[in-house]
Amino acid sequence: MTEFDIIIIGAGPAGSAAAAWAARQGLRVALVDKARFPRSKLCGGLFTERSRSYFREIFGQDPDLSQAVTRHNCALWYEGEELAKLEDIPPLHLTMRLDIDAQMFGHALAAGAQDFTGRPVANLTDSSVTFRDGDTLTCRVLIGADGVSSIVAKHLFGAAFDTKTIGFGLEIEAPLALQDPQTQPLRIDFAAAQWGYGWSFPKQGSTTVGIGGLRAENPDMKAQMAAYLTTLGLPTDAVKVKGHHLPFGDFRPHPGRASVLLAGDAAGLVDPITGEGIAFAMKSGQLAAQAACDALLAQAPQTALARYQKALKDMHRNLRIACALRHVIFGPRWQKTLMASFRRSGTMRMMYMQLLAGQVEYPELARRLLLRLPKYLLTALRPSR
Ligand SMILES: Cc1cc2nc3c(=O)[nH]c(=O)nc-3n(C[C@H](O)[C@H](O)[C@H](O)COP(=O)(O)OP(=O)(O)OC[C@H]3O[C@@H](n4cnc5c(N)ncnc54)[C@H](O)[C@@H]3O)c2cc1C
Repeated sequence: MTEFDIIIIGAGPAGSAAAAWAARQGLRVALVDKARFPRSKLCGGLFTERSRSYFREIFGQDPDLSQAVTRHNCALWYEGEELAKLEDIPPLHLTMRLDIDAQMFGHALAAGAQDFTGRPVANLTDSSVTFRDGDTLTCRVLIGADGVSSIVAKHLFGAAFDTKTIGFGLEIEAPLALQDPQTQPLRIDFAAAQWGYGWSFPKQGSTTVGIGGLRAENPDMKAQMAAYLTTLGLPTDAVKVKGHHLPFGDFRPHPGRASVLLAGDAAGLVDPITGEGIAFAMKSGQLAAQAACDALLAQAPQTALARYQKALKDMHRNLRIACALRHVIFGPRWQKTLMASFRRSGTMRMMYMQLLAGQVEYPELARRLLLRLPKYLLTALRPSR
């Protein structure tokens, strides 16, 4: 078969979610990826309860977290000093993307999507995809779920992202020989990167250690990563450091054009404070697929973007508030004050953990922060004993 209702480029969380959702509604879906699955993706692999509930809703069952580590505690650090050791926090699932993405991809195929993975794309139009081997598929709606360097976004807008506003992350996977993850805390370091943070996430057979932040604010991220590894007592040259772009709050207000939609990283849907992207990729994939299904049912594929944009309204509003709040959280004028409040206020620390765990949305967080702002400022200005 070469004619499809929907072609989805990219079979990560956004693409697999879109494919499963549309195929289950009886549409003819082609799922294209240059990689074969299981494939790895540079990522902390923090899978929140928000991700878990979207997974359940979209794929119809709970993710298998038997290969993951679930923690209910976390250590928060700032400039080499431990701010707090938190216990009884909402669950944080530390997954390997090789595993969790393969589960989503498997569900998409089981729902009826046709597998075109391991097939690099040579050319595309709004309604066709041609592979390097010359085969061509056609469709009525095209969904670009092909990540931060999206060729679909390039096709539509000339460039996948803006280098001035994009984020970047560096990571290593520290093996057991270097560090036993079972003895390591889940750790967040606020000052490890500017307009971002550092993380150490213990997994079953390794620890994912990384830093991420706005690329423009971190001109020498390699040196910052080396400093962070040293802080954690890890050698700087034992494991290859890998890097990947991250659309850190740089979402596209118009994620597509007529019958061509962008989802997940391709649409810039990453939380600009926590860096969480898996949940928003799945959700936007589902919303894009639903918009495509509705537009096709109405015999009006060109209306897909308008429908999708309407469905994305809440997510966009959330990200807009987060972009405003991040000036308070990461901006140099505010960060010290905020960290002082963090040191002293259990409520403040728990609010951050709820945010990291995907258990609070930004409108609610902004409301709670505004209510407490005068008290935090007074607390922060009080000399420490
Ligand atoms: C360092 C780092 C750490 C992160 N940590 C976390 C975290 O802990 N938790 C979290 O929730 N988020 C995290 N994120 C964000 C998260 O990784 C992304 O938001 C998420 O992967 C987006 O999913 P996606 O499906 O949109 O894209 P991807 O997962 O990037 O999938 C895109 C797919 O498209 C395919 N593709 C790309 N180009 C082409 C092409 N030309 N032709 C065909 N196929 C193509 C790729 O092979 C890939 O399979 C992190 C990101 C980085 C960089």
